[in-house]
Amino acid sequence: MKKRQKNEVIIFDTTLRDGEQCPGASMGLSEKMEVARQLARLKVDVIEAGFPIASPGDFEAVRAVAEHIRGPRIAGLARCLKGDIERCAEAVAPAGERGRIHVFLATSEIHRRYKLKKAKREIIRQAVEGVKYARRFCDDVQFSPEDASRTEPDFLAEVVRAVIDAGAGTVNIPDTVGYAIPSEFGDLIAYLFENVPGLEDVVVHVHCHNDLGLAVANSLAAVQNGARGIECTINGLGERAGNCSLEEVVMAIRTRKDFLRVRTGVDTRWLYPASRLVSRLTGMTVQRNKAIVGANAFAHEAGIHQDGILKERSTYEIMRPEDVGIPGTELVLGKHSGRHAFRNHLNRMGFKLSPAEMEKAYEAFIALADKKKTVYDDDIIAIVQEQMAEVPQVYVLSYLHVSSGTGTVPTATVRLRKGRKEFQDAACGDGPVDAALKTIDRISGVSGKLMDYSLQAVTQGKDAVGEVNMQVSYGGGQVVSGKGSSTDIVEASAKAYLNCLNRHLFMKDHASKKSKAVRDRRSPGRKSTRRAGGR
Ligand code: MN
Repeated sequence: MKKRQKNEVIIFDTTLRDGEQCPGASMGLSEKMEVARQLARLKVDVIEAGFPIASPGDFEAVRAVAEHIRGPRIAGLARCLKGDIERCAEAVAPAGERGRIHVFLATSEIHRRYKLKKAKREIIRQAVEGVKYARRFCDDVQFSPEDASRTEPDFLAEVVRAVIDAGAGTVNIPDTVGYAIPSEFGDLIAYLFENVPGLEDVVVHVHCHNDLGLAVANSLAAVQNGARGIECTINGLGERAGNCSLEEVVMAIRTRKDFLRVRTGVDTRWLYPASRLVSRLTGMTVQRNKAIVGANAFAHEAGIHQDGILKERSTYEIMRPEDVGIPGTELVLGKHSGRHAFRNHLNRMGFKLSPAEMEKAYEAFIALADKKKTVYDDDIIAIVQEQMAEVPQVYVLSYLHVSSGTGTVPTATVRLRKGRKEFQDAACGDGPVDAALKTIDRISGVSGKLMDYSLQAVTQGKDAVGEVNMQVSYGGGQVVSGKGSSTDIVEASAKAYLNCLNRHLFMKDHASKKSKAVRDRRSPGRKSTRRAGGR
């Protein structure tokens, strides 16, 4: 085994084991493989791939990860029972010397009395036997005294000493129920180092749960007291409130290396992609304000903050979004944004407005921001469109007729005006809205993919105006949002769809003008270089 540096912290990912135990987050084999590949890209040190005895699916997953994933060590979980250990050994075998058997046994008084009904002496005997048996199959054996943080410290020290003597190379101290407080948990780790001879010769891990929101803090406190392994999961997924979040703990160590004086081997540029992947595969969405990987983690709204960021990023940013794999800071504009941020944002989007136009656009923006909490780029384009008279509404709806009902094929006839010309077509669809949108696609020759659709009543009563908001994707990652309103929901939908289409065409046109402008600006420079060379 590679000798570890004293300041290196092992990142042990258990997304596929503890994370998958999260209610509603179960994954199939191919999904687990995708996560495992991403973990290897992240360069975590250990992947705990599952609990092989738990089910045939778990066994297959651990075996497949052990067989196909290169780089990290591959661990499987087992109780201190022969059957568990044998099954686990079989599952991790394809990883060869990178395979690890992780055995566990509860040690706290509560677990001993109510769950295991075993005395202390018996617990030690079973733990030692488990570790010894696992060592018959695998050189790399890890032991966890479950519920360690609620175990009497002197008994915990006794257990840890016994399993080290039995051959465990890694000892994990779990805060299984998320009960510990950082300073207390740090003291427990320090206590073990003082009272267990030989503890410095093995690797000490911690496995913290987030029931009190302290999993990351407890893990860091343990590291400050000598622990050199952190068990964690992507997005903090896990039993109940979850586990220590990998992205948070890794970025805390990286950002505050000045203070913590340790490092991890994680390639942090894969953190955001890993978070998105796990969220997509498990269906567990990440809250917007989640540290590191939440949608708002790098978004600045207050005017003073935005102004600061534009002048010098470190004024309000302790990490760079690109360090965690986010392409760029999203400067969300809201009603607290000042003129400076607004102008800068327009410039970055490639717009050049006169001071008078800018002032008008800013006023329109503030009025919109008052109604709408967050103003997105598409909204700003709409504002600029209004301010710039030369921007045309490319397509305008001039006629719409739909027929639908039980037993009829929903059909739409649409007439669109483009400049002075009118175009008409008809199409069928799954419903009247679908038929109308398909007809618009046929006429414009641009096909959009509806990503999101919502219908709201703007006013009260049965004759209320319905407002349709939609997001349409036009390929290449571009998603445009638009809205339309009418007392007829099909017409509102068609208008919203046209709104998206017009914005898309405007942006496309704008982008090509912008790149042409860049080309024009560059070419005189090249000419002068040539002239200089000719002299
Ligand atoms: Mn756990």
